[in-house]
Order: sequence, then C-alpha cells, then structure tokens
Amino acid sequence: MVSRDFHPVSSVVDVAGVKFGDGHLPVIIAGPCSIETSEQMFAAAAEVKAGGGQMLRGGAFKPRTGPHSFQGLGVEGLKYLQQAGRSQGLPVVTEVMRIEQLDTVCQYADMLQIGARNMQNFDLLKEVGKTRHPVLLKRGMSATIEEFLAAAEYILAEGNPNIVLCERGIRTFEKETRNTLDLSVVPLVREMSHLPIIVDPSHATGKRMLVPVMSKAALVAGAHGVMMEVHPNPAMALCDGAQSLSGADFAALMQEINQLLDFL
Ligand code: PEP
Ligand code: MN
Repeated sequence: MVSRDFHPVSSVVDVAGVKFGDGHLPVIIAGPCSIETSEQMFAAAAEVKAGGGQMLRGGAFKPRTGPHSFQGLGVEGLKYLQQAGRSQGLPVVTEVMRIEQLDTVCQYADMLQIGARNMQNFDLLKEVGKTRHPVLLKRGMSATIEEFLAAAEYILAEGNPNIVLCERGIRTFEKETRNTLDLSVVPLVREMSHLPIIVDPSHATGKRMLVPVMSKAALVAGAHGVMMEVHPNPAMALCDGAQSLSGADFAALMQEINQLLDFL
C-alpha cells in the first residue's frame, strides 16, 4: 500500500490545513526538542511564527538514551504545546512513545510523531494506524529504506493513510556528526512511494552549524519539508541545545530558504 505501483498518484497529507506533498510548498516545522515550561513554548511559538514556520514541534514524552536525563513534562507539556501552537495559529506535532499515551496525545496534538527508536514498535504502529490522526514516522537509526516503508505499511494497513515520512540520519562509523544524513533516501522514496517525505537535519547532524546547509540540501533533494529544533535560549536547553537554532538563526535561515524556493 505504500508503493507507487499500488497508488501512482502522490499523496497529500493535511495537518489542520498545512499540506505536505507534491504541488505544495515545503512545510517547515520548528520548535524545541523538549517542552520545558509554558513561557519557553510561547516564546518558541512566537519565534517559529515570526520566522515563517508553518508548524510547531516539542516533545512531552522524551525517548532519552539514559534514564537520568530529562524525560519530558508529560501531559502538562502537551497542554503548553497546544496552547502555544494555538496562540500563533500553528498546528503542533509531538511524539507518542506508548500505546497507553495515544488517546491523550491525540487530544492535544495535530500530528503524532513516531520516533526513530519506535519505528519498528509494531504494536504502536498498528494502534496509530487505527486512528486517522496524521503521523510523522521517523526512520529508525539503523533501518533500511525497505524497513522504513514496511513500518509505514503497518499504519496504512490499519486504515490510516495520513503518513509523512522523516529522514533523521542513520548510524554509521562517523563520529563528527551525531548521525549521517542520508539524503539519497528523499529521491528514492519519492520514486518508490506516494507518501510525502521530510528531513530532520537537527537530529541527523547534532550540530547547529550544519542545520542551515543540510536544510537547504534537503529541499534541493526534493524533500516535502524540513523539521528543525529551535529554542529561545539554546544554551539553556534541557535537551539537544547543541543542535538547536536560536530564533534569530531560524529567521535568517528562513530567508535563505525562501530565496532558494524561488529557484526550485
Ligand atoms: C525528536 O524528534 O524529538 C527525536 C527524539 O528524534 P528521533 O526519534 O529522530 O531521535
Ligand atoms: Mn531532540
């Protein structure tokens, strides 16, 4: 069902009026890694809106590598995210980690994110597939393209066609970057599948300095959008500060992106 052979026409996924897919401008999703406070989320939402972003991101349930790192604010965070998004008219996306959280996350989020670590949590994929909520499915850090598309198939097979794929870097031997951004997946997936695909250069690189150039490269490669981490005060971020742009960095990058889009 994910294949173009089955469904030749490119799909467009509508998230509360924001459209991902062919025939639409690339969607820019921005916001902090984690929801930290109400003030932080309102400030982030204002920066995303001012820069020209179309959606707000923020994690309330965080899949941290170690148990002693900040795990997210949970439901309280979902409320801040929804309120901040509404204050600027930005639909919101946030990660759901477990089936037990799904109903609650659906109440507050316009789009459900399945994180890289859960790309092959087949029970979660099936439950998300039973909803009709738009889904942002991130590529597992060691997943092949075949496995990535098979994960999307789990959601589609349950009846939910509203899937946007997200390349977020894969594990390689390279240590200078957090992951290795596999941009070739964008044209390949566009040929193999009808589903839209976006790129997350923040988690792919782990380095703020690389986010602008990799964002633009993703758009040149044909991505239907970019998701990047933006924090009102990256130095104080509870999570992923080193890869987060400030509001000013984001505004500058958006100017470059808009110039680039005139050529594409
Ligand atoms: C995220 O986008 O918040 C995140 C945790 O990313 P990933 O699942 O790609 O590591
Ligand atoms: Mn992050």
